[in-house]
Amino acid sequence: MRISPRLTLNNGVMVDRLGFGLYKVPPADAAGLVTAALEAGYRHFDTAAMYGNETGVGKAVGALSAFDGSAGGSGELHRALAREDLFVTTKLWNDDQGYDATLRAFDASISRLGLAYVDLYLIHWPCAKRGLFTESYRALETLYREGRVRAIGVSNFQPAHLERLLQSAEVVPAVNQIELHPWLQQAELRALHASLGITTEAWSPLGRGQVLQDPVVLELSAAHRRSAAQIILRWHLEVGNVVIPKASSSGRIRENHDIFGFSLGTAGLDALAGLERGFRTGSNPDNVN
Ligand code: NDP
Repeated sequence: MRISPRLTLNNGVMVDRLGFGLYKVPPADAAGLVTAALEAGYRHFDTAAMYGNETGVGKAVGALSAFDGSAGGSGELHRALAREDLFVTTKLWNDDQGYDATLRAFDASISRLGLAYVDLYLIHWPCAKRGLFTESYRALETLYREGRVRAIGVSNFQPAHLERLLQSAEVVPAVNQIELHPWLQQAELRALHASLGITTEAWSPLGRGQVLQDPVVLELSAAHRRSAAQIILRWHLEVGNVVIPKASSSGRIRENHDIFGFSLGTAGLDALAGLERGFRTGSNPDNVN
């Protein structure tokens, strides 16, 4: 089994470039899908308090840290892995912003996950109108100093939000997780991240499945004899993103992980670069409050 290449965050913590996303995974399915993903080679999992499936993720991943093989099914797999082989991200929900509320929300998340620490804790949306993200981030810094999170960051932050945050932040965010796929390539944010040492993590990397139908993607799929999903995920790796596709079957989970044995070449990258159209599948961060 091939394991994803890793990238080093700005604080030295390493993360798999390819992870597994759990938005819209029903709570009852989470443990089974995380176990299928572990078996396929994923070691990086992206959940959130809002997804309602932290407990299910914890069933597969949290129990794994006890090495008892009783969690998600495969005893052998569980015995072969240590907690430090995994990277678990969760996120602070909007209603829990504010210093004290963030600390309480983190306690609740970690208890649902059954973990002693998470690898990455993110502010899910800036919710700028609430005016609380700098306070919330101060709580993330507290958790970071206490060693309860290995890295902290943000999600859905636009340049103005990052600029505001950095006026008071003592720890530069390790990650900004943003909507990013060939139809929304986020050139401005990616350049800003590069200049600040922030890693770009792509959510809805397949455009929630919609970009799979793009004719250019389909042409590349035929030329490389790879699925449309593999073409897009490979593009993410080659342009430098961390990427966290979601899928609901073990076949797709495996397919999405099998992207390390080919490359798109300059022509493929150029063709995909031409697909930018400013198309969002999710909310504009300026409208979420
Ligand atoms: P994705 O771009 O990952 O697309 C998921 C969709 O693509 C699903 O409908 C899935 O179908 C389909 N799909 C996956 N693999 C294949 C394949 N090989 N062939 C055909 N179809 C496929 O969308 P998400 O919105 O789920 O984003 C990924 C992750 O990003 C989330 O799960 C979450 O962790 C994170 N995220 C973060 C947000 C944030 O605000 N920070 C917002 C949104 C997402 P099926 O499930 O039926 O297999």
